[in-house]
Amino acid sequence: MRMLYISPVQGLERYFDVLSEKCLAKYLLTKRTSSLSTKIGNANEILRNCHFCERRCGVNRLEHEIGYCGVEAISRYASEFMHYGEEPELVPSHTIFFTGCTFSCVYCQNWDISTAPTSGTPALPERMAEIIGMRKHQGARNVNFVGGDPTPHLHTILQIMDKCNVNTPMVWNSNMYCSRETMGLLSGVIDVYLADFRYGSDMCARKYSNVNNYWDITTRNFLLAHEDAEVIVRHLVLPNHLECCTKPIVQWIAKHMPNVRFNLMFQYTPYYKAHQYPEINRRLSCDERKKALEIVEEAGLRNLV
Ligand code: SF4
Repeated sequence: MRMLYISPVQGLERYFDVLSEKCLAKYLLTKRTSSLSTKIGNANEILRNCHFCERRCGVNRLEHEIGYCGVEAISRYASEFMHYGEEPELVPSHTIFFTGCTFSCVYCQNWDISTAPTSGTPALPERMAEIIGMRKHQGARNVNFVGGDPTPHLHTILQIMDKCNVNTPMVWNSNMYCSRETMGLLSGVIDVYLADFRYGSDMCARKYSNVNNYWDITTRNFLLAHEDAEVIVRHLVLPNHLECCTKPIVQWIAKHMPNVRFNLMFQYTPYYKAHQYPEINRRLSCDERKKALEIVEEAGLRNLV
């Protein structure tokens, strides 16, 4: 695996230079082999029996059937802008917030977007490609597809890539609950997975995000992503969830992807419906932050941000 360790100062530029070279190679290869048009065709087929994510609703979105995420065949986005709050080597990151989500996190920070899949502006591929070009000229270092979650919008995102005339790294900013088929379509076109690893237990995933089989699906996808592209793992530490979630996640990463970029996040805030769950209805305590850092240190993993 070609993951690079980023030293605190000079490594950042090197990381991104290497990344850009890889992106260019990937872009040229994709264009040359026309695999992108094949991927678009395959994604449109999946839309007829939607299994972009592991909910596998099987609805025909081209015939206006709606699955769990509520996203129609036409993708919509709530906003796009230059984001300066992402990991240092990614900023400024041109971030596109698609509406709808495959999860239902009770503490969702973007609940106004994730729970309103039919709101927002239609994401017309040619127009989005123009916007990406404009942001690139303004200094964007990449384009960052997020939401909600980008997974229900895969068919649109592939079409946007096809229309893009600028060479820019493609960032997939996701909960990693997509299907194996989706991972196959992402292979070769995504340069960076900016990937949330939320839960160390299926019980917690069921309780707070209403998903089944979380651990097996996400760990499978992390391994696939790691074989194929750069990965930045984000773990948002939840109050009272260090033993059941933080610890197994950190230990799994240390075992399977020890040199990965790992971002232990302490900014949890009880948004949306979190007040209905007393155990997560507060911010992290100082002790919890300290304990989370100890878990990372004990596992031999470097928290690089
Ligand atoms: S992307 Fe939406 S419709 Fe498709 S399988 Fe997932 S939740 Fe269901």
